[in-house]
Amino acid sequence: MRDVGRRREPAVAGRTSLLADDPDPQLLQTWFLAVVALAFGLARVSGTTGIDLRTWPTVGAALTLVGCVVSVAVPWERVPRVLVALLPLLDIAALGFARLDSAGSGAAGILVVMPALWLGWMYGRPGALVATLGVFVLAALPALLYFGNRELLARTVLITVVSGAAALVLAASMEKVRAGTRIAEKRGAELAEALRMIELQRRFADAILDTVDVGLVLLDRNGTYRSVNKRHEDFLRLAFPHGHTSRAGQLGLIFEADGRTVFNREGLPTHRAAQGEEFDDLRIWVGSDPLTMRALSVSARSVLDDRGAFAGAALAYTDVTEFMRVLQVKDEFIASVSHELRTPLTSIVGYAQLLRERDDLNPEVVAQLEVISRSSARLQRLVADLLHTAESDEGPMHVTRVPSDLSDIVRAGVQCALPMAEAVGTTLELDVPDSLSVLVDPQRMAQVVDNLVTNALKYTPPGGRVVVSLEVDGDRVELAVADNGVGIDVADRERLFSRFFRARQAEEQSIQGVGLGLSITKSIVESHGGRIEVESEVGRGSVFRIRLPYDGGAATPARLPADAGVHSSSAG
Ligand code: ADP
Repeated sequence: MRDVGRRREPAVAGRTSLLADDPDPQLLQTWFLAVVALAFGLARVSGTTGIDLRTWPTVGAALTLVGCVVSVAVPWERVPRVLVALLPLLDIAALGFARLDSAGSGAAGILVVMPALWLGWMYGRPGALVATLGVFVLAALPALLYFGNRELLARTVLITVVSGAAALVLAASMEKVRAGTRIAEKRGAELAEALRMIELQRRFADAILDTVDVGLVLLDRNGTYRSVNKRHEDFLRLAFPHGHTSRAGQLGLIFEADGRTVFNREGLPTHRAAQGEEFDDLRIWVGSDPLTMRALSVSARSVLDDRGAFAGAALAYTDVTEFMRVLQVKDEFIASVSHELRTPLTSIVGYAQLLRERDDLNPEVVAQLEVISRSSARLQRLVADLLHTAESDEGPMHVTRVPSDLSDIVRAGVQCALPMAEAVGTTLELDVPDSLSVLVDPQRMAQVVDNLVTNALKYTPPGGRVVVSLEVDGDRVELAVADNGVGIDVADRERLFSRFFRARQAEEQSIQGVGLGLSITKSIVESHGGRIEVESEVGRGSVFRIRLPYDGGAATPARLPADAGVHSSSAG
């Protein structure tokens, strides 16, 4: 059994298309037969000729049928291409016989154009030449010789030239079409190759993204998840045990850095990134089971299109669980050690004070007791700072704001620092209003003043000058502590308020400190709704400025502790 469709498929698939390089001989032969039949039919209807089986045209008709049988019977895909030309030449010969009726004036002459076109189409210009010769020898010349009629000479030439020209025109057009097709195919192949490379690159990129230990997410401009790597799928399962909608801003088991406060939609990293926000090291916890929940540090960057419009965002989630747990252990350790140190320290300070109050001690012992008092006071401050630092991770600092006289607080702070200033020969100046009622936590504000003034004295070489001033500026109060000390490098200024950070100058000059005072000062100021800023120049000095909200002094100040009541407009 012969399966035509399948037989042709692999080798001559191109022949089925009319514009293919190698047209299907069977198809063309069928067309040819149809047109020949039409011509004969029309001729018969118009009465110009009859079908006479004993005449030459009958031989032509028989040849046409032979051509049809051959076109069907021959397995063309196995026949050398050049031999296919025999079929149109057979058709031309058939038409040559058909012309031998009615003195060669029938419609058969025009029909030779069809096999001629076929040859031009298949074999290009050489095909057109073969067609011209074939038409002349097989179709035009026999009629001329047969009838010996001079009038047929013009017709002979005409048939040859017209079919030759038609074959040539078609050959030229087909050449152009084929050249265009070849270019298109080349481009198509290049495009396919480029797409293949892109796909390969994408797979490489996917493989790399899946191997990294960082969760990665790509959002489009509408906040829809475009891509998620394997690591992030683990985090998604923890945060959304009931499934994720692939949309940014979905609420789930996502908690703030304290591990307890649930994020609202506006605070979620994906929601913020989808709004075009960029950030680094946003700490979150995902999951609800204390044993499996993970701490993540999230960074986000926006992606812009070629016109600079927001096109999406990339988010990276680094697992910092171990780090957070270590921090937690460290803070717990610091807190417990500080607590343990506080009680004996209070005894030392208290008993040193009691001893100093005795009047039967010789001056040498009093001086030694003073050293004990000063050192234990310093230790007390350090312990308080450490304790505060350990606790500050547990949430925002708690302040109790009451109407307080800020001038008194600042004066008291300066008063306490006077012995230290005198010891190093530094002038300590104070410029504060007589009284300034502000809503603050007096203990915490005293700590701020103490930190800033002590720093100014510490980081100013002996013989320097420190000025502490307080003034009202519209709806703000400004406290400034200026010195002409070692100054701070620009590169260090950004990290100045981070915990345990010490600037280069302090380290180089071996000035004592642990780097906690400014971070505590900043959190106190911020929990009062204020801001702290620094201006500085290395070798020339620094100015620390604190701005706090001021309600116009409507509140009545609270009484200060007894030792804070120094009433002078300047000291030093
Ligand atoms: P500490 O003084 O214990 O090191 P702080 O947090 O108070 O810690 O200060 C952090 C760092 O800021 C200091 O180590 C120092 O380098 C720098 N600094 C603070 N105040 C001044 C100042 N007035 N002049 C120069 N450097 C300062």
